[in-house]
Amino acid sequence: MYICVDFDGTIVDHRFPEIGEPVPDAIKWLKRLHKCGAKLILYTMRSDGGAMGNTLSAALQYLASEGVTLFAANQNPSQREWTSSPKVYAELYIDDAAYGCPLIKPKGFARPCVDWKKVGPQVEHICLSRR
Ligand SMILES: [Mg+2]
Repeated sequence: MYICVDFDGTIVDHRFPEIGEPVPDAIKWLKRLHKCGAKLILYTMRSDGGAMGNTLSAALQYLASEGVTLFAANQNPSQREWTSSPKVYAELYIDDAAYGCPLIKPKGFARPCVDWKKVGPQVEHICLSRR
């Protein structure tokens, strides 16, 4: 199962172009979703080579250092054979900007972020049911 996961506001607090404090339980749940077979795709506006620097590489480095295994970043290589659409294909998208996504606002955070205590178990349930 392909799952697209946003970065700022979803995995870390919104501090772009810096990397904010970790969103509570995000890393724990990303590892659990990977364990249950999810192919995680980082789906972010971060990029390399722009005026802000290599903010995508910084995010990838952060996730690698936290032990999160990604399938891809900002693309799903498996869709090339059946579509030329630029939308990144996934069965599920986790994003603080997605309508309906449960949010929390931890003390000191710049903006509300994903509530992984709610999102994690629900997405894991979906992931397990599709194995
Ligand atoms: Mg976001």
